[in-house]
Amino acid sequence: MGELLNCPACNKIFIKNQFRDVCDQCYKEEEKMYEAVYQFLRKRENRAATIKRVVEVTGVDEQLIHKWVKKRRLQPAHFPNMGYPCDTCGKIINKGKICDDCTSGLKQDLQSFQAQGKWRERIENSSKKTYYSRDLNR
Ligand SMILES: [Zn+2]
Ligand SMILES: [Zn+2]
Repeated sequence: MGELLNCPACNKIFIKNQFRDVCDQCYKEEEKMYEAVYQFLRKRENRAATIKRVVEVTGVDEQLIHKWVKKRRLQPAHFPNMGYPCDTCGKIINKGKICDDCTSGLKQDLQSFQAQGKWRERIENSSKKTYYSRDLNR
């Protein structure tokens, strides 16, 4: 049994299942859209089209394209410009959750965070020493 949900596209109540995240009617609409997008993209001259271009030509919602790439219904291997926005900066990507820039940015953040941690440890150790020595002098 699926759970009852409001369709994110039209707000009608429907039963969610593993294949559909919108109601029957919207699902049919989406399939039509998918068909239109796919028919457009499969033409050799359109393979490298951008999302913007596909939206212009087919009138499909950009978010649907994002969803299809995430679900691998549109394969980035065939359509290099299809993708979805990076969680962090919104750049179009087609694998993972965040783009390469943000990934390396995160790594740098982590490194500086670790460096900071070491630095803080050193400060704490030295202040402990100061504390003890002051204690002894008393
Ligand atoms: Zn619906
Ligand atoms: Zn990013």
